[in-house]
Amino acid sequence: MSSNYETLNKHGLDIRKIRAEFPILHQQVNGKPLVYFDNAATTQKPLRVIEALTDYYSGYNANIHRGIHTLAEKATSAFEESRRAVKEFMNAPEAEEIIFTYGTTDGINLIASTFGRANIGEGDEIIISSMEHHSNIVPWQMLCEETGAKLKIIPINDRGEIVFEAFEKMLSERTRLVSIVHISNSLGTINPVKAVIQKAHEYGAKVLIDGAQASAHIEIDMQDLDCDFYVFSMHKLFGPTGTGILYGKRPLLEAMPPFRGGGEMIKEVTFEKTTYNDIPYKFEAGTPNIGDVVAIKRALEFVEAYGKENISKYEDELLQYANERLQTIPSVKLIGTAQNKISVVSFIMEGIHHFDIGMMMDARGVALRTGHHCTQPLMDLFNIEGTVRASLSLYNTFEEIDIMVEGLKNIAERFK
Ligand code: PMP
Repeated sequence: MSSNYETLNKHGLDIRKIRAEFPILHQQVNGKPLVYFDNAATTQKPLRVIEALTDYYSGYNANIHRGIHTLAEKATSAFEESRRAVKEFMNAPEAEEIIFTYGTTDGINLIASTFGRANIGEGDEIIISSMEHHSNIVPWQMLCEETGAKLKIIPINDRGEIVFEAFEKMLSERTRLVSIVHISNSLGTINPVKAVIQKAHEYGAKVLIDGAQASAHIEIDMQDLDCDFYVFSMHKLFGPTGTGILYGKRPLLEAMPPFRGGGEMIKEVTFEKTTYNDIPYKFEAGTPNIGDVVAIKRALEFVEAYGKENISKYEDELLQYANERLQTIPSVKLIGTAQNKISVVSFIMEGIHHFDIGMMMDARGVALRTGHHCTQPLMDLFNIEGTVRASLSLYNTFEEIDIMVEGLKNIAERFK
């Protein structure tokens, strides 16, 4: 076990300093210091993000784009600065290719309703994987029901990795879209999305990547990946809830019909005909979530201050340590043992229901997620109802993993 000093200074990260930025972490839960291991569900927010919200609402709250008064101009410019910050963060070619959404689910539904309805018809095929979140399954099922298209599912092996050869065989000239998760929220598997994108493009299919779990843990680079669409939620990336990002390649976004109709997304409206605004505004109808979007820039600054590479390396060590320590408990079975994985450790314990484990750990101040994690078909494949999931972030420590493992050992003893 690393000494306290080493734990707090890893890969150029001063974990003590990082933790000091998160007020919520410094509290007792059920009489015990909080150990927050539910980062895949949502991350906690650093002070700079919380302060950005206070600054906005106490300093320059105003509706954007339409006003010419000082507050409106200030709010508009902060809103658009966040768009440019996202462009940099994901190395997108242009800021206009960044659309603000309410989150990953909203982004996927946008693509299904616009690109999907315009380009996918009867007999066409959409490919997803076996480890998708419900939000990357249901919108495609709805689209298939409406259009008569077919949904095909890439199988996985026992470790929770996609079977690439099976994917290659599924592709055909009928494949219109491949929509796949970058990192699985239930297993932590990092999918070989670059290879998936290249292969799909050989068949002329477009590719949507669900980056909900990737954006906080590994580099995401649109120009390197060459995907057609990429979506994620800011609340899993130290930002506010209710905001998300959809990246799309300009020609695709321009050709797509609009999503929601209303103010902001139009150029001119008459009762006879409406012309639509340019991207990105064509897809941002109505007053957006201005305050939270403004705070996005601060969340990205937080990540950049520490560096994705450092964060990935530190989280990798935390994950290895959690894996090793958990395997010292005989009744623990890990679910998802991919060679390439990050930040998530999912497991079951013989003879104890996952909900009971979650409740007993909560009594010890440890926040774990239990259940199917919105991936019911994946749980069915593993023949289980759900797992206990610890999902890690850069503010977690080796000591916290020890606390979790000691708690689980205790529970295992009691249920022997
Ligand atoms: N995809 C994945 C892989 C996720 O982990 C999640 C959130 N658990 C989502 C999609 C949906 O994200 P949101 O609820 O923020 O729209």
